[in-house]
Amino acid sequence: MSNNHEIFNENCTQCARLSSFLSQIRQKYPEYYSKPVPSFGSDRPDLLIVGLAPGLHGANATGRPFTGDYAGILLYEMLHKHGFSNKPASSNTNDNLKLKKCRITNAVRCLPPENKPIGDEIKNCNRYLREELNNIEARAIILCLGVIAHKATVKALLLKQSDYQFKHGNIFKLSDGRTIIDSYHCSKYNTHTKRLTKKMFNDIFKNIKKINK
Ligand code: SF4
Repeated sequence: MSNNHEIFNENCTQCARLSSFLSQIRQKYPEYYSKPVPSFGSDRPDLLIVGLAPGLHGANATGRPFTGDYAGILLYEMLHKHGFSNKPASSNTNDNLKLKKCRITNAVRCLPPENKPIGDEIKNCNRYLREELNNIEARAIILCLGVIAHKATVKALLLKQSDYQFKHGNIFKLSDGRTIIDSYHCSKYNTHTKRLTKKMFNDIFKNIKKINK
């Protein structure tokens, strides 16, 4: 099973600001992955999870989305609890973690300064997200973590933003059989401030399982 679709280019340097930021990070942390991060998981998923962008000491360090920092802890725990993986934690790319009919990607594949990509970067990277969305099952569920992931997904699906407003817990049934579900991002900040509790995230996954039956 390949973890990449052909179109994704891990040497992409289209966003000059991000490319130059990654060069600086490579100097500072030579052991880090520090390239555009590929998606991880099944090639034709029933569940596609869309995050924001790699974190400095997480996906940017390890080369796997939501791996290496706090943001992935709750996510991988939930994926295992609800039958989408063989292990409850993701530690590195050699840990034998397998996702089951599930794939994780990011709206922006390169580490942005202060975790904040700018509009052009989200736009540039949208073609990779579009390719991901072209490779999910016909009745797949797309879980958008946070407003930027949500908007990038709506854009990649060529839908009208005003018809699909982000709200935690929102479920949008699309005319083609697929479903978008919104959740607050499982970031350290959101979980520590209880904006997103474990119960809230678990409820999101319960809804995913109901729709996925
Ligand atoms: S953010 Fe996306 S489009 Fe921009 S350089 Fe990285 S991989 Fe390429």
